[in-house]
Amino acid sequence: MNILSLIFDQGCLLCGHDDTFSEKYGLCRRCASPLLFHEEKGEKCRVCGLPLISEDGICMRCRNEEYSFNTNHYFWDYEGTAKQVIGLYKFKGQRRIGRFLALVVYRYLRRNGLDNVLLIPAPCSPARLKKAGYNHMEAVCRALKGTHGIPFATVLRRRRGRQLKKLSREERKAELGDKLYIRPRDALKLRALAQGKHVILLDDVFTTGSTASACAGILKQNGCESVDIITFAID
Ligand SMILES: [Zn+2]
Ligand SMILES: [Zn+2]
Repeated sequence: MNILSLIFDQGCLLCGHDDTFSEKYGLCRRCASPLLFHEEKGEKCRVCGLPLISEDGICMRCRNEEYSFNTNHYFWDYEGTAKQVIGLYKFKGQRRIGRFLALVVYRYLRRNGLDNVLLIPAPCSPARLKKAGYNHMEAVCRALKGTHGIPFATVLRRRRGRQLKKLSREERKAELGDKLYIRPRDALKLRALAQGKHVILLDDVFTTGSTASACAGILKQNGCESVDIITFAID
């Protein structure tokens, strides 16, 4: 990595190469292109979005689950460069990557004719919020609003609790049911904004689906007719 690119905050965070794309998005064109032009993966599970092998319409994992959302749309497997890029954004404070993530979402929405969208950023844990000073997914939504006018509503919040990644699927469900909430005035705002909109929750990684499902559940209790999910990667 080119040390100057770190100092001047402009080169590619993966290879150090400096082009106009990396100045804006934190990645040079060459490193970004496999992430921008990810292949469509044939028939997908209509719930989690994973490619189906021999199943019909819905994968084995989702068959036994009840999720409150309709469909998860995701872009990458959570490994290799994709994992590195998400990590740079989430754990290393590389905010330029947020603009790149916004670009990925925008292209996806446009390609799939998803318009009239209201984005809802997934909530951060209070510990992360305090450490980073901002909600990562909200920053992506903000970039999308700034460049393309796509509306968003930061209404989901999380109370202090246990770290989700250390919990089992069942424990996560219970923990989230307890800790997720929408403030009353945000609930009113959400009801108004969600009218006639395609509501999409934006999160970084889809793991068990329990966070997405808990978020979708509470959104539906607050006037959203149905909720889809966009995640950057699936684990
Ligand atoms: Zn690069
Ligand atoms: Zn599935």
